[in-house]
Amino acid sequence: MSEDRKPGFNTLAIHAGAQPDPATGARATPIYQTTSFVFDDVDHAAALFNLETFGNIYTRIMNPTQAVLEERMAALEGGTAALAVASGHAAQVIVLHTLMEPGDEFIAGRQLYGGSINQFGQAFAKFDWTVKWADTTDADSFRAQVTPKTRAIFVESIANPGGIITDIEAIAAVAKEAGVPLIVDNTLATPYLTKPKEYGADIIVHSLTKFLGGHGNSIGGVIVDCGTFDWMGSGRYPTLTAPCSSYHGITLAETFGNFAFAIACRVLGLRDLGPAISPMNAFLILTGIETLPLRMQRHCDNTLQVAEWLQGHDKVAWVNYAGLPGNKFNALARRYCPAGAGAVFTFGLKDGYEAGIALVSNVQLFSHLANIGDTRSLIIHPASTTHRQLSDEHRERAGAGADVVRLSVGLESVDDIIADLDQALAAV
Ligand SMILES: *Cc1c(COP(=O)(O)O)cnc(C)c1O
Repeated sequence: MSEDRKPGFNTLAIHAGAQPDPATGARATPIYQTTSFVFDDVDHAAALFNLETFGNIYTRIMNPTQAVLEERMAALEGGTAALAVASGHAAQVIVLHTLMEPGDEFIAGRQLYGGSINQFGQAFAKFDWTVKWADTTDADSFRAQVTPKTRAIFVESIANPGGIITDIEAIAAVAKEAGVPLIVDNTLATPYLTKPKEYGADIIVHSLTKFLGGHGNSIGGVIVDCGTFDWMGSGRYPTLTAPCSSYHGITLAETFGNFAFAIACRVLGLRDLGPAISPMNAFLILTGIETLPLRMQRHCDNTLQVAEWLQGHDKVAWVNYAGLPGNKFNALARRYCPAGAGAVFTFGLKDGYEAGIALVSNVQLFSHLANIGDTRSLIIHPASTTHRQLSDEHRERAGAGADVVRLSVGLESVDDIIADLDQALAAV
């Protein structure tokens, strides 16, 4: 390929970061299942530990299989660098650990993955990091929460339940005014459907566990540094701008410029907190990413057909899928996710709680479980599972009322997916 040709998304999904293995010629990326790497000599070891040269030391910090996954994700999101970690939640901990000091605050849209609500509100409180909640559908509600202690804003690109398509550009404008980075969790969209950097995100996180891995077999997460935030100019992020005592007093933001955030996450956050991804999981997720464009398009096409069919069913009260004309997020979906509004959505059953239980008990092709983003079609009734500990009022507020069913539509023949829902709804 000539120097001035920019490879397309499909090409990057297959090739970015990878080359035939220099030692063996292996064409698929090998699983470097090793804990540690031999130094050339004493000087090489010293240079590695001083961050004067890049290279492998120990798989908690860096590994060649993980490195291919990182380069591929940075390429797909248009970032300067990336760091792969053990899970989506691990990515979030490391990002916030790099940005926050005890006593600092960050603002998050309250319509988030349930696990993130727990992590931000409960686990992070133990670090004395305070989350201020805003309404993802209202950029002004973020503005109202900004204080001198604010260090970041966090939103999901597609937020469920609720079926929200986030107006990333409007919230990025608030982050800019406040002088803090915008973090976008792009798990439900993946860079195939939307690239948050193009709308002003500074940091992107993913649970690789979902559509990127795509086959329901491996947990993983990634942090992408967009290279857009001016850490030295801000001066509010000592991890990046104060002399670093672990590395002979170098200043990470000065030494590493527009990929300093990714470096800080690796050489401090991952080094010290420790949630490394295994080479095996990195390999499985890389293999999944090779077919991301094909899978995501099929996921979206199947989902639109299923949502349209449900809308016409007499036992269904409502369908909330942003891909449907008439949905309140349809205009934002057409702007941010023109190829499709993702594969996860909720709908309501006219007969409420008992109907939800009957539906999940009678499906045969769908799997009743708590996950999304598998090749297989998945179903859950939040009120009787993930949200059962909450009061009725809290469930309603979380978009998980008694009548709500959530689907993650898979890649099976769409006629079979619809036929399964049809026979299960007949039993309701
Ligand atoms: C699953 C998920 C996470 C957490 O990721 P894990 O890999 O399970 O730790 C975070 N955000 C979103 C939107 C998710 O769907």
